[in-house]
Amino acid sequence: MSLVDDYGRRLTTLRIAVTDKCNLRCIYCHREGENYSVGMNCDVDIDELVSIVSIGAELGLSRVKITGGEPLLRKDIVDLIYRISSLDGIEEVSMTTNGVLLSNYAYKLKEVGLKRINITVNTINKETYRIITGFDLLDRVLDGVKSAVDAGLTPVKINMVLLKDLNEDDIPNMIGYAANVGAVLQVIEFEKVGVVDNELYDKFHVSLDRVEILLSRIAIAKYCRSSHARPRYVLPNGVIVELVKPMHNPTFCKYCDRLRVTSRGELKPCLLRYDNHVNIVEAIRCGASREDLKKLFLLAIARRKPYFE
Ligand code: SAM
Repeated sequence: MSLVDDYGRRLTTLRIAVTDKCNLRCIYCHREGENYSVGMNCDVDIDELVSIVSIGAELGLSRVKITGGEPLLRKDIVDLIYRISSLDGIEEVSMTTNGVLLSNYAYKLKEVGLKRINITVNTINKETYRIITGFDLLDRVLDGVKSAVDAGLTPVKINMVLLKDLNEDDIPNMIGYAANVGAVLQVIEFEKVGVVDNELYDKFHVSLDRVEILLSRIAIAKYCRSSHARPRYVLPNGVIVELVKPMHNPTFCKYCDRLRVTSRGELKPCLLRYDNHVNIVEAIRCGASREDLKKLFLLAIARRKPYFE
């Protein structure tokens, strides 16, 4: 079965915030578009999460991205990945993590079915890392990246959000780092979402134009991924650099293939909108049938609309 929304966009992916808790305090964080205050202890129970994914899988969503908060703070994360990966119809489970706890988990996660991982490393400069995240934990994160590569959670992707006057000039170093560890570098435009207000956005937003010009000059090949039509550049040293340019970008929205689940158990049709969530966990708690839960998925999909048209 395949799910297509009213704008002809085929859905493939569920992106699930499995907790709102985090062990870093990144100054730019959009918290996956959630407006709640952090750490409210309202995480959705593992059985409820598995039910949500199984309904999505039955409807044709075959890929799951686990995010947060920081997903590795969930005590049952290994069991959760195991149960989700084992569901009929699920072809790929991946995760986005800040990497602080990853060296303890990389092999276990691989063993239970996690296919690949994105690790947020906005800089490899220790002081800049501390300024951005509030913690002096870069070494632990870099150990985590190494463990992920060793465990075979490949392709390991390094997520780097470009921030004005903070890590703008770190691109060459980050390309070198990605080459050394054998990772893909994903450079992400800073997004204005939820808790990111105008002041913060004006302070840190910088377009990816300069990065794009640099990559166009040095790349030996360029192509686009199907998801969000993200451009990818292949560099002479073999490193792949992917650009994520969501802001004011109708092409990004046109190729959006995901439905989100918030840490409160709501289906979230668009990262940037708050007025169209569908509370599926409440329905599960009230004993709704699988057919009724499917209808809630279809309602969320009917509410999808490109944010930038
Ligand atoms: N704690 C995990 C982590 O740091 O990867 C997962 C949650 S985090 C919200 C998921 C991804 O969103 C990270 O790569 C993070 O850098 C990115 N992100 C957070 N705030 C952002 C913003 N305002 N604009 C663009 N990307 C952002």
